[in-house]
Amino acid sequence: MSASVAPRLPSIDALLRHPACLPLLERYGREALLSRLRQLLDELRADVLNGQLSAIEISPQVLAGRVGERLAQQQRSHVRRVFNLTGTVLHTNLGRALLPDEAIDAVQMAARYPLNLEFDLASGKRGDRDDLIEGLIRELTGAEAVTVVNNNAAAVLLTLNSLGARKEGIISRGELIEIGGAFRIPDIMARAGVRLHEVGTTNRTHARDYEAAISPRSGLIMRVHASNYSIEGFTARVPTAELAELAHRHGLPLLEDLGSGSLLDLTRWGLPAEPTVRQALLDGADIVTFSGDKLLGGPQAGLIVGRKELIAKIKKNPLKRALRVDKLTLAALEAVLGLYRDPDRLAERLPSLRLLTRPQADIYAQASRLQPAMAEALGELWQVSAVQALGMIGSGSQPVARLPSAALCLRPHVSKRLRGRCLLNLEAALRALPIPVLGRIDDDALWLDLRQLDDEPAWLAQLPQLRVES
Ligand SMILES: *Cc1c(COP(=O)(O)O)cnc(C)c1O
Repeated sequence: MSASVAPRLPSIDALLRHPACLPLLERYGREALLSRLRQLLDELRADVLNGQLSAIEISPQVLAGRVGERLAQQQRSHVRRVFNLTGTVLHTNLGRALLPDEAIDAVQMAARYPLNLEFDLASGKRGDRDDLIEGLIRELTGAEAVTVVNNNAAAVLLTLNSLGARKEGIISRGELIEIGGAFRIPDIMARAGVRLHEVGTTNRTHARDYEAAISPRSGLIMRVHASNYSIEGFTARVPTAELAELAHRHGLPLLEDLGSGSLLDLTRWGLPAEPTVRQALLDGADIVTFSGDKLLGGPQAGLIVGRKELIAKIKKNPLKRALRVDKLTLAALEAVLGLYRDPDRLAERLPSLRLLTRPQADIYAQASRLQPAMAEALGELWQVSAVQALGMIGSGSQPVARLPSAALCLRPHVSKRLRGRCLLNLEAALRALPIPVLGRIDDDALWLDLRQLDDEPAWLAQLPQLRVES
């Protein structure tokens, strides 16, 4: 009787030449295939010696299959599309505003061809990249001049550093806010070289508080739109117009960080009122800063608008060079701003506004329509219902305002003790879909707010692949 002989691993050379590996060679190239094959054989060697693997398990076909999976996994992009069904429209972690087709086309053009980024086609001389969008922004905001940087945090940093370095920046205690991702007004001020001079109290700050703080050391007065929280009750805040008058009486500039800074009055579309950039300038703010990818609905950018001589000073700061925007951003920004020239059609053409203004009845009808497919995908264990829900704008715009919306509400039919685990498993299964689906857990249920589900076919097509661990 002969002792059974442990099967032997095929050699790298034999594998490379094997027909099962040829498509992989073609697709991923020799180097990638070779390194993954070596890695796999190294992992299997000990088990093979111990006789723990069958001949089938180490056949070239099976090995090629395993290596193919690894190569596919490795090649999968890390930047991935997701379904944002969280109910928060401008979700910072999910990329905020979605661009309109006009902007996507402009980005493509800017990516594909050389362009007049810093070249004045009229004179044939060197140009300034801000000039590409200055006319449009002046028209839309009434500002004298404009400069654009990488995001609003950069806009605030650059403005403070340019106008207030080594001097004091006067700001109300109620506006010393933190915005997600470690952006805190006091820290930014310190980094900008501006000495913080806080005045008033958290809930009430009066004109006399500002006035008492003004001295020869003062460099500017700053106002920050408290975008991600609200103070209610016994409060007092100096109107911008009055604060501007006070600042100018003492020869100081008033800087206003509007955060979302919308260009138009949103109440026209039934949305909560947000201060507009034009109004802040009309009220006398000398510089206004705001984001490109919040309510504006464009690419990530920080816009600095205001008085000409102050903008000129900001543009001369060497930090401007470090914080400037790239050509793709400028191309997208110009295209988005162009849509604002026709406000009547803005809600159709600008995705963020279209999503924010989607009627609840429309979203509810969609939830009812999708309920059976979701119920079928989840099976007996889950109760699936189409319900009304409340979403929000996000990115600090109107923190307390809620958008009437509708959702699929998914509840497990299990004891209270098991519910949390069940919901986390479902959440993970939805994230594991080819296009991950992100919802939110609240009140012992998983909610999929459908306000932002505009690609229904793609969403439905992947539902049968949902595998929830129990
Ligand atoms: C969002 C926000 C910022 C930061 O803007 P980013 O574009 O995210 O850098 C700064 N200030 C206020 C008031 C904001 O709301």
